[in-house]
Amino acid sequence: MRLPLVRVTLLAALLWVAGCATTPASAPPPLEPHGVVLVSIDGLRADIPGSGRMPTLDALFAQGARAAWVNPSYPTLTFPNHYTLVTGLRPDRHGIVHNDLEDPVLGRFASKKASGRDGRFWGGEPIWIAARRAGLKTATMFWPGSEAEIAGGRPDHWRPFDGTMTADARVAEVLGWLDLPPAERPRFITLYLEQYDVAAHAAGTFSPQALDAMADVDAALATLVRGLDARGLRSTTNLIVLSDHGMADVRTGDTAYLDDVLPESLFSWSSLGPVAHITPRPGHEAEVTRRLIGRHDHYTCWNKEALPAAWHYGRNPRIAPFVCQSDTGWRLQLHRHPLPARAVKGEHGFVPEDPQMRAFFVASGPDFVPGVQLPAFDNVDVYPLLAHLLRIAPAPNDGTLDTFAPALTPRAGSAH
Ligand code: AMP
Ligand code: ZN
Ligand code: ZN
Repeated sequence: MRLPLVRVTLLAALLWVAGCATTPASAPPPLEPHGVVLVSIDGLRADIPGSGRMPTLDALFAQGARAAWVNPSYPTLTFPNHYTLVTGLRPDRHGIVHNDLEDPVLGRFASKKASGRDGRFWGGEPIWIAARRAGLKTATMFWPGSEAEIAGGRPDHWRPFDGTMTADARVAEVLGWLDLPPAERPRFITLYLEQYDVAAHAAGTFSPQALDAMADVDAALATLVRGLDARGLRSTTNLIVLSDHGMADVRTGDTAYLDDVLPESLFSWSSLGPVAHITPRPGHEAEVTRRLIGRHDHYTCWNKEALPAAWHYGRNPRIAPFVCQSDTGWRLQLHRHPLPARAVKGEHGFVPEDPQMRAFFVASGPDFVPGVQLPAFDNVDVYPLLAHLLRIAPAPNDGTLDTFAPALTPRAGSAH
């Protein structure tokens, strides 16, 4: 009964491909894509834009196409989510399943150490690879993954991450790229700003330090917008500003110790914090299952095969057999591995359904309808949007461009 259906589907697919290949001679030539500048403000929660704290971001929010919020992918950490934004793949599929992980063959990956720049850990194909293949120049003013050689290449311009480089200096670099002659000018540019994330971790979501960081980041955004205006590039450049996840306040001492329920001799771990990856030592699988699975004070543990379906997480071999997730505000540690001495007052990595973990999205420029509010969407949808704007064929991904249909302007020669 199933074969004929498969044949019909195959035939339809072949006819569709043949139709695409025989473009009528009268069809208009494909248009050059507009430029795309993708800005990430790490950790900036969905309720901050439009709240009066960041005037430039507020203005973009009022005038641009914005989302009610963006659902981050699981786990709500920086590297998994930034790489999802540029691949459209869930962390389970692109393989950056945590900021720090253990690959059964490659060994340890620590996002902020040298192993984080080893391309073998990064699966899928970041958007800058397809853009380069299409003959477009690309540049990253930092972005997780941009320092590694992935799928055979890197962006045309990239820099090793340096947290001491100010937001203003980063914007100056971006504007410098926009000053290149048209043939050399990058068509796709990223700008990564972690100042808010750093301040909120250290001092809390609305601490004076976090408010200062918001002001710095906002001033840098203002310089970027003015720079686009001054170069006459506003009408040919799509500016997307978004975040990877939100941020929640945590109280010192709100720590749950895994070894209170499970003696350390029974297991090893590859990550702790809001999301812990636990592997039983050989011969202790049954006991670890009995003691760990289920609800505990301030956290829950699952077998990796039984994690909530909405998280799309658990199939990748880099995910340990057991995953524990803390409640918002709590962290998972071991007595022998207490939290680092530095204070932690803000944190993310909590469940993506928590409104505090929501990210934001706003886009303005020639391909966007001003003033549209889109319903909330999953961050895997950003990649097909980038591919659409750059007029390149998206690689297989977990997102959909349909999300943005109400916000995209029709363009000659475009599907929209
Ligand atoms: P986290 O808050 O632990 O999820 O990670 C965010 C932090 O990662 C930022 O505050 C930066 O300090 C750091 N970071 C971001 N991008 C990079 C990168 N490309 N290389 C190394 N560290 C980075
Ligand atoms: Zn982050
Ligand atoms: Zn962070």
